[in-house]
This record gives sequence, structure tokens and C-alpha cells, in this order.
Amino acid sequence: MAVDIRLIPCLSDNYAVVLHDPATNAVAVIDAPDAAPIERALDAEKWKLTHILITHHHGDHVQAIPALKKKYGAIVTGPRVEADKIPMIDAQVGHSDPIVVGNIKAHVIETPGHTAGHIVYVFDSEHLLFAGDTLFALGCGRPFERPAPILWQSLLKLRDLPGETKLYCGHEYTLSNARFAITVDPKNAALKKRLANIEATRAAGKPTLPSTLAEESRTNPFLRADHADVAEGVGMKGRDPAAVFTELRERKNSFKG
Ligand SMILES: [Zn+2]
Repeated sequence: MAVDIRLIPCLSDNYAVVLHDPATNAVAVIDAPDAAPIERALDAEKWKLTHILITHHHGDHVQAIPALKKKYGAIVTGPRVEADKIPMIDAQVGHSDPIVVGNIKAHVIETPGHTAGHIVYVFDSEHLLFAGDTLFALGCGRPFERPAPILWQSLLKLRDLPGETKLYCGHEYTLSNARFAITVDPKNAALKKRLANIEATRAAGKPTLPSTLAEESRTNPFLRADHADVAEGVGMKGRDPAAVFTELRERKNSFKG
């Protein structure tokens, strides 16, 4: 049976995602920005939280752990490398470790960059990627704790996943990401079309997630630093993709849009 998914807006622009395994009633939340909206979503379905899967240590991803754990006693899983910064962590995981939520299986990919120990969760059979703040729809996280070329290597690992994989990420940044993307990849017809769709979706107050990795590979400049059009877009034709990626990241940091 397919897994049930609920995308839950939290705080100003965060998302938590709830997964329910109908066969076992196991329920996982990916990241814990705010307890109240997560509890409301669970109550609406009469689901009880059994697992909390954390991508990285930032406060807006972990601050609801204590409240959720107190209420449900759920098992907290998070990255080994930053376990000391994640409250009430029970299971520390790293590269390719298996994750089980009821009968649903996932594995971990380490994606250092935004934070040193950032991990993502891949549910292979369901074709789901929970990318936290590593990969956003049309963007990527800021490399705070590791340099940009390390984040580029992390993103390449995600680009290698099957194209039909659905991307869920930690924030609704898609519209501002799209406005930036078109400045560095202006000839990309698929991107132009996607920008128009995103403007309409946001104008209607709807989430832009999930996207697919196939869509991201075609339109997200941060997955296309090794594409000639994007290199040309930042005046770096023929240069090393890691250098192009670094330039893209720096331009995005100062982009006002
Ligand atoms: Zn973060």
C-alpha cells in the first residue's frame, strides 16, 4: 500500500512532512520546526507519531523535538556528526544507514555543506527525497559550515537519484529561487515555464512542493553548474563546475528578489 504524506507549513516558511504507513500505522515526521501545526495534522488523521527524522541541527528544524517526544515518545533519529546539537536524539545515523518506519524503508545520504553533518532521507521504493536545507526547489542551502565546493559534491549525489524522485525540502523559498535562477540561466525554456507556474501557485497561496529531481535537473541552476549555459550565465564558460557553483552561491547570497 502506498504511503500517506502530509506537507505541513510551519513558522514563516518552514515545512515539516508527515509520513504514515497504512500497513502498520507507523508515523514519521521529517524535521520538527513547530509542534502545534504538526500535532494538528496528526490529530486530524488520528495518527500517533512514532518517528522523528532530523536532517540537521538548526533550531528551526529541531526545536519542536522536546514537545513532540514528550507527547508521543517517538524515536528521534538524526545525523551522527552533529548529534551533540540535536535534543533527545536516540539513533545517530550516517552514510547509507538504513531507516525503517513501519514497513517503509529508507536510507541516509550524508550531504555536508549547509551544516557539517547534514543528512537527507531517501525512501527508495516510494521515490521520496527529504532534503532538509541541502537542496531546495530551484535552489540550495547556504554553505554555512562547509565550503561551497563540498556542497556541490553533496548535490551531485542527489542529482544521481532517479528522476521520478519527489523532492521535499525544508523551506518554501521557491519563488525567490526561481527569480534568481532566471538571471543566471535566461535561455532555459523549461525554467521560464516553471517560473510562471510558481508565480501562479504562490499567488494562490499554495505550496510549490514537491517537485521532482528530473524537474530540478532541468531547471535548478545549483544542479547545473556543469552545464555550459549556466557557466555562461555567470561569465565563466569553460571553468570548473565547483568554481561556477561557488559563484552562483555568492550571487544568490546578495540577490535581492
Ligand atoms: Zn538550516
